[in-house]
Amino acid sequence: MKRLPLPAFEVKDAVEQCAAGITIVERSQALLAALPTFQAAEATYKALAPAGQLFQIPTSDQVTPLLSGDLMGTIYKSHFARPGAPSRALYEAIRFAPPYGLCPMCGQRIVASVDHYLPQSLHPIFNLTPANLVPACSDCNKGKLAKFAQCAEEQTLHPYFDDLGNERWLVVDVRETAPPSIAYRVRPPAGWSPVLAARVQHHFKVMGLAELYAAQAASELADISFSLGELAKTGGPASVRTHLQGEFASRHARDANSWKTALYEGLCASDWFCNQGYLLVR
Ligand SMILES: [Zn+2]
Repeated sequence: MKRLPLPAFEVKDAVEQCAAGITIVERSQALLAALPTFQAAEATYKALAPAGQLFQIPTSDQVTPLLSGDLMGTIYKSHFARPGAPSRALYEAIRFAPPYGLCPMCGQRIVASVDHYLPQSLHPIFNLTPANLVPACSDCNKGKLAKFAQCAEEQTLHPYFDDLGNERWLVVDVRETAPPSIAYRVRPPAGWSPVLAARVQHHFKVMGLAELYAAQAASELADISFSLGELAKTGGPASVRTHLQGEFASRHARDANSWKTALYEGLCASDWFCNQGYLLVR
């Protein structure tokens, strides 16, 4: 999970620029007339999100009598995000914000679109609210963010508001199998609240991160097995371990909780892997 800065614009900018690109007069007027409603909702959102309390916002099927949920969906897709629309630059500022184009939800796959943290179908009032618009890969996007959270623990992590800090929390178990297998899990640091620990576990599960990272780790092991074998020929298991420790330090310096950091930490800590496990990689 990668934290991102909150977009540098507000729902006022999004509504006004979106309305400027709408040629259907009644529609753009209805949108502009609802601006105070959008702004009040945005203030509530920004007050609740840092405390992890967005689940408390009641669902609705309209913004105002003239702006139904369905119409808000059309406005988002056909006006706000439309290529060439005045508001498209705002959409793209969110879409292209993550470094290297990596999805903030999984940290691995490439961003495919902008998604609504609180789903459009349940919260049309936040369709154009920048704080609710997050870049996501298609796998993290599909269905996973649209689940309805009934309590704080059922909320996935929000890339603008949830900060997990730099303490190590993503760890692996190196399983002594042939080939070696790597199992990822969340190990909540002592300083996390029970709710945060539950949310991270929930996020990890619904985004399928254990499976995603295990597959990446298996591929990484296949990539490094030849060079580990060459190191062992001259320096034995001690050389293998020293090399893996260096790889861990380098990954950790960039990201304390990437799947690679966790992988190399687990590998260099495993006597079995450094002595013989590396020989079993296929
Ligand atoms: Zn993702």
